[in-house]
Amino acid sequence: MPLMRNARQTAADVRTGSVSARAVVQAALERAHALQARSNAFISIDDAGALAAARAVDELVGAGGYPGVLAGVPLAVKDNICVTGLRSTAGSNVLREHRSPFEATAVERLRAAGAVVIGTTNLDEFGMGSSSEHSAFGPVRNPLDTRRVAGGSSGGSAAAVAAGVVPLALGTDTGGSVRQPAAFCGVLGLKPTYGRVSRYGLIAYGSSLDQVGVFGRDAEDVAKALALMAGADPLDATSAQRPPAEVGPRPVPAELDVVARSLRVGVVPHLMGDGVSTGVRGAVEATLERLREAGAQVELCPVPEVAHAVATYYVVATAEASSNLARYDGSLYGSRVGDDGDGQESVSRRSRAQGLGREAQRRVLLGSYVLSAGAYDAYFGRAARVRRIVSEALARALSEVDVLAAPTAPTVAWRLGEHLDDPLAVYLADVATCLANLAGLPAVSVPAGAAEDGLPAGLQLIGRAWEERRLLDVASALTHDAAP
Ligand code: GLN
Repeated sequence: MPLMRNARQTAADVRTGSVSARAVVQAALERAHALQARSNAFISIDDAGALAAARAVDELVGAGGYPGVLAGVPLAVKDNICVTGLRSTAGSNVLREHRSPFEATAVERLRAAGAVVIGTTNLDEFGMGSSSEHSAFGPVRNPLDTRRVAGGSSGGSAAAVAAGVVPLALGTDTGGSVRQPAAFCGVLGLKPTYGRVSRYGLIAYGSSLDQVGVFGRDAEDVAKALALMAGADPLDATSAQRPPAEVGPRPVPAELDVVARSLRVGVVPHLMGDGVSTGVRGAVEATLERLREAGAQVELCPVPEVAHAVATYYVVATAEASSNLARYDGSLYGSRVGDDGDGQESVSRRSRAQGLGREAQRRVLLGSYVLSAGAYDAYFGRAARVRRIVSEALARALSEVDVLAAPTAPTVAWRLGEHLDDPLAVYLADVATCLANLAGLPAVSVPAGAAEDGLPAGLQLIGRAWEERRLLDVASALTHDAAP
């Protein structure tokens, strides 16, 4: 079966009628079922809906209409982003049969441009995790090595792009959930500036940290999808009034020496040391060396405040999660355990105990504790202050360099089950990614080549607010210039 071409070529072919959207989508569905058998990357695969949507695109082409920038492009959507017509479970038993009456703005905008949703992808429950093992639908396996995790929480979307099922997939990123699985699966993953993309229709985890992000195999595809999703949305008051065009793709891929010539890269030493595996450090240093050789100024840029980021992130994220998950009380929607006569407290307790998995329960307990009257000042209040200190330190650093560089994750994808009993070790591995969420900055994970055991590493670049364009230019230059 031919591998998926990139989104731009596919859409161009569909628009001229040289290939039908139906054929493109049919092939993607076949690949999705094949991947499902190996990787468990999907929660729903929507054969009928996708083929109907493809037919509508073909009819429009036949009638001489304009089917859109992403005409007939197969898209996979993380299952915590609401898609009408499909279940939106967030990987949780509590939402196992949940069908949203409305659609996420990000999805609606991509569908309006002709993209065809072929299914929703598997994830850590509510986005809580780094391996996509904490799903009520079973773990996702890495298509590069099915004994390994795909990363998380958007592991299914990363796997779908890595396996060539779709050229584009959506994820959500609260503390690294797009970038880290992108690194583990060897694809590109972008988390936009907070407010760039509407959060309407996203099943909330940590509302001050969550953003919809994009996976792709090339930076132009990612830029195209981002430009379509971006822009203010009356349904999300935190969406920003920024022109979507400022993130749009360049007509041709960026050239490495052109991009590098005016680029100042700050390597954060605290993120290159302890805990980073030799193979990952080597791959990241080699990629930075390519930038240096092409003319970039690559220098050390100490930001010691990053040492406090993980602790801060896990206080803020769990506090917000405990508040967001309070709605799954067995009354309004979601699964319910118990009868009307049992009393609300008993129904809530049993619905939550059976509906939420271990990791989600751990987060709710931790979050409720840090917000409780006796602990608020020592934990949540202090975390809010440290969050500001970390954000200001990053802003200062980014006034001296254009981008901050570090390994996306300190290791390559680990073996399934390897860290299930050690959540703290997994939390600590978010050190580089959670920075961008705490500060609301855009960041990208660019494939950095093989690191160890034949598995890839990712180079993370954090940019100034609203400078996704620069990150994608660097990503474009690095990926197009790489050996095939
Ligand atoms: N691994 C982080 C967490 O568990 C980030 C997850 C995410 O970005 N959704 O919170």
